[in-house]
Amino acid sequence: MFKTENPQVLDDDQEETEIMVANRSKLNLPVMISKSYPSDHNHKHVGPLLLDLAILPLETTTEFVLNQEQRVVYCDAIDSFFKNALNALMLDQPFDFSQVPIVSKIPKSQEREYYLKSDLTASPLFFEKFASRLLFKSITLLPAAVRLFHKNIPNNFKPIFQEVVTKHASKLLIENELNKVQNAEFGERLKVRTVPVTGQIISEYTVEDTKMKLTIELPRDYPLSVPAMNLDKAIVKGDRAKKWLLQLNAYLFHQNGAILEGIEMWKRNVDKGIEGAEDCTICMMTVHQQTNQLPKVKCKQCKNRFHSNCLYKWFESSNQSTCPLCRNNFT
Ligand SMILES: [Zn+2]
Ligand SMILES: [Zn+2]
Repeated sequence: MFKTENPQVLDDDQEETEIMVANRSKLNLPVMISKSYPSDHNHKHVGPLLLDLAILPLETTTEFVLNQEQRVVYCDAIDSFFKNALNALMLDQPFDFSQVPIVSKIPKSQEREYYLKSDLTASPLFFEKFASRLLFKSITLLPAAVRLFHKNIPNNFKPIFQEVVTKHASKLLIENELNKVQNAEFGERLKVRTVPVTGQIISEYTVEDTKMKLTIELPRDYPLSVPAMNLDKAIVKGDRAKKWLLQLNAYLFHQNGAILEGIEMWKRNVDKGIEGAEDCTICMMTVHQQTNQLPKVKCKQCKNRFHSNCLYKWFESSNQSTCPLCRNNFT
């Protein structure tokens, strides 16, 4: 009788493993800063200024252009002094961030303009404004680093920090991530839509008549909490689909990149999984209509591939366990 463990399954192709080949010279800035970062307690106030300088190339409006791999390495280099700089900015100040009037009393409609364009030098509250702007930039451009910072700050400061972030940054940040996804093109197979009210990004990947749905939900205090993910149907069953999901999860958790880039990476993996697959020689489809599986069973003799369901039905109807094409025995 036909045994499922006997037939050869698809080889585990090389997955896309975001190879970090970065141009080292682009990293000079954060490395330089980390080397000159003051260890002397009396000069720690220089930290936020250095962080502000290091973040500059991450802003898209500047002439510095880093590709995705370079960004990852660049952000890693900033990590070495990020915590100290943010500590100096937020914890060692004579003012309480949640009490800074300028931060909490900006009309909602002007928040974006305030953080992005306010004329800092003209303000009598220069440092407070500088601090809120640098904090906002850090949250936007280094979400994973800010998440780690929040995890490691003293417990009594955690709710305050969370409130400041949720109140002043999360909404704009979520809106920004959703817009990026909304405006992107993913090609024929992947349709992505967003639900701003719930902060959800719903990606539907279609092969033939089969749909696979991935939902990413951004939490209210994003980026402090990690986005929740749900895959309701995996076209490629088993370990590979799980691996891609874990990879996406790790990306969303550790990388200081956009959600959009995570979805693109996930799509490239699924594309590869589907493209490497051949049609089932019995039903002529790639994805099985009921099981959503790819043709994983391969005949050792004629090398044709079949859905295990299709082959099982063939065995039943023909009353023997032989290949429908070459009659090779499967047992
Ligand atoms: Zn089939
Ligand atoms: Zn055969």
